[in-house]
Amino acid sequence: MLHTTITNTENLHELEFPAVDRKNSINIERPAYRKIGEILIDNLVPPQYIDYALKEQKIRKKPLGQILIEESLVNPEVLAQALSEQTGMEYFSIFISPLQEDIGIDMDPEFVRENECVPIRVTSEHIAIGITDPLDLNRMDSIARYFKQKAQKQIIPHVISTETFQRYMESLIKIDEREILSYLSEHDIDSDMMAMISNDGKLQQKQRKEMHASEALRMLFRKAIIEKASDIHIEPAAEGGRIRFRRNGVLSILTSLSMQQYIRLINIVRIESNVNVVDRHLPQDGRIDGSYLKDEKYSAVDFRVSIIPNWKSKHSLSDSIVIRVLDRRTSVLPLPKLGMNPYVLNLLNKFKNKSHGMIIFTGPTGSGKTTTIYSTMATINSLERAVVTVEDPVEYRNYLWKQIQINERIKFSFSRALKNVLRHDPDIIFCGEMRDEESAKITFDMANTGHLVFTTLHANDSIKSIPRLLSMGISASMIESSVLGIIAQRLARVFCPACKGKKCSACNYSGYSGRTMITEIFPVNSDTHGALKMAMRGEIIDARKSIADTGVAGLRHDAEEKIKQNITNIEEIERVI
Ligand SMILES: [Zn+2]
Repeated sequence: MLHTTITNTENLHELEFPAVDRKNSINIERPAYRKIGEILIDNLVPPQYIDYALKEQKIRKKPLGQILIEESLVNPEVLAQALSEQTGMEYFSIFISPLQEDIGIDMDPEFVRENECVPIRVTSEHIAIGITDPLDLNRMDSIARYFKQKAQKQIIPHVISTETFQRYMESLIKIDEREILSYLSEHDIDSDMMAMISNDGKLQQKQRKEMHASEALRMLFRKAIIEKASDIHIEPAAEGGRIRFRRNGVLSILTSLSMQQYIRLINIVRIESNVNVVDRHLPQDGRIDGSYLKDEKYSAVDFRVSIIPNWKSKHSLSDSIVIRVLDRRTSVLPLPKLGMNPYVLNLLNKFKNKSHGMIIFTGPTGSGKTTTIYSTMATINSLERAVVTVEDPVEYRNYLWKQIQINERIKFSFSRALKNVLRHDPDIIFCGEMRDEESAKITFDMANTGHLVFTTLHANDSIKSIPRLLSMGISASMIESSVLGIIAQRLARVFCPACKGKKCSACNYSGYSGRTMITEIFPVNSDTHGALKMAMRGEIIDARKSIADTGVAGLRHDAEEKIKQNITNIEEIERVI
């Protein structure tokens, strides 16, 4: 697929879309030819990775891009971004912006599959098309011909990753919520399910298979994955219940449920997530793994189930269930493409090359902390430095790192894993979260004993992290000597490029398309010493002022910059900060 990545580039200037008027049909300034390896290095890929892949290429006779991806040296999104720079075409990622839902063009799925192309959005004048291999001229040619015939519009080609393409193919499958409801309405053994449950609170395997409710849950899960929902809410309503999906950080109602449908659904979730079905008075946590969906491609997806009994007067069953969808196929994005402000990015790049110290990422759940950490760690030369991660859950697989999944159920806790990690000769450690005093202390010990540590902390902003750390029993001197910097972040939706927030078909009438990062950094150094002391005394406002005086901008300032640049608006900022 990427076979033309390193050859055939001389012909680029001959690239032509067979449209009516070439000048109008394709609007690309061809950049001077540069090698893909050089561009990747400019995009923070360690040069040693390119050298290694070039050596491998001589033995394996595979395209460079393919080797880089197979070895986890480069992420598909990073490669696509580099290809976009090489060809002068824009880069598009489904992990940054959604596709237009209804493009109004009848696509032949066979053509799409063969040519690996994706319609991104259609406006009155343009049609944006994503392609995985912009260097395959024959393919480009037939794609241009196809869309020219389908829509008499100017074609704007974009480079997309193979992952974006696969996600698009997945999105072609439509799951109608009415179908889920009809499965829940089928007469099923679960209409009297409680009677079928044996004494240990679990259903017999044989009985499980026959349940229509299982099929309904499978479809609900598939729909959540396809629509990239991060959470599924199943909750009681005045009559019956409802299902909501959280997408791009915002909840929306998927469907209402009759009382019977609601009860069947919460029962099947309880059964499949292996929580105790009989005890309905206490909150419970469970999980359902991807194999439940009976589809190989979902094996890396996991569903974390949280059940809380909800007060409701009319009947006894009123579980509120939230299922977090963990799609580990989520891609790591190129660090320079996250929307981080240049000041923060610059400091982060300095910190990540240190041999020891701690970089703390903070912000609420869903603010993209882990994505930033993965994207940052992907730019560190992990061939020369040993990287160990301790996570719950492991959200992204990288074959260059040793990744440890903790498991509280078998008492394999963060603290225990971290103690073991030290014997594993690490240079860089990613500790998923400092969640309690014990894990915070061990994490600090690691940063103090010659390791570079990435970690997250639950705090509102970078300054408030300081009193939080003190309250976790970390001493002031530990903070001063170990912490390199604290980064706080939020994700804010950005305006749709087609209508600039006015709402159009390209953005599914939301006005927004994709998200950007709002960031601030608190570098711990001699300039900010005064601010650090103030933060330690709990003088948050004074500390904030003092930091601003050293020229370091806060979250609000970064947000205001993004409003000035007309990327997002004040409503969105108020929502996330
Ligand atoms: Zn729009």
